[in-house]
Amino acid sequence: MKTKLLKLAIYVTFSIAATGCTDSLRTSSTWQVHDANRPQPWIVTPAQQPGHPPIDAIILFDGKNLSHWTSDKTGGPAKWKVENGYMEVTKKAGDISTKESFGDCQLHIEWASPENIYDDKQDRGNSGVFFMGRYEVQILDSYYNKTYPDGQAAAVYGQSPPLVNASLPPGQWQTYDIIFHSPKFKKDKLIKPATVTVLHNGILVQDHWQIKGSTREDPTIYEAHPEKLPIQLQDHSTPVRYRNIWIREL
Ligand code: MG
Repeated sequence: MKTKLLKLAIYVTFSIAATGCTDSLRTSSTWQVHDANRPQPWIVTPAQQPGHPPIDAIILFDGKNLSHWTSDKTGGPAKWKVENGYMEVTKKAGDISTKESFGDCQLHIEWASPENIYDDKQDRGNSGVFFMGRYEVQILDSYYNKTYPDGQAAAVYGQSPPLVNASLPPGQWQTYDIIFHSPKFKKDKLIKPATVTVLHNGILVQDHWQIKGSTREDPTIYEAHPEKLPIQLQDHSTPVRYRNIWIREL
């Protein structure tokens, strides 16, 4: 009897291995495994060069003008300097925001801190990308510029230092590729916090970090807000430059 049971166990084990029956364990509630009726993913033509926008991206800045941006200070046209294919934070012009609103998204943005260093810590090439005007991924010249870790480049400001410091020297163009999921509210109650994943110069620095609340508040808190809101770039009185900004809604 024991031998029979052992043989049966071996047979079942080998059968599963041979036929891939273990796939049945991965059957989702909606679709069978390898279901031919499952909708095909959309075809999205990638850019010819890495970092350039794919075909379904919304171009927020192509180096020519600030037509997608508005001044938070005046509510009118954004007044940052545009030249040589980049925009530059212009002192006292204030923060700027996209005219369009976004929730869950993939953002590509390139930035450069000033080549000439004339300050340190938080005053060296400080700017920031604020999702929904509330949740900041910090921009700072963090190349041999020691400051509090949750305030350096690629930190979720005041909450999460980057996993590593992937900063390039001042003046060099750097990239952020960010996947942001907005918080979800039911009436005034938070039911799902926001999350953010950041690649800094291609290196993972925020790994699906669960945002604790608005980075503008201390302590951080969530206050209910609309599902989509503009993306904001910060004027922190240092002439940080931006170029090649595009976004995909998720
Ligand atoms: Mg900042």
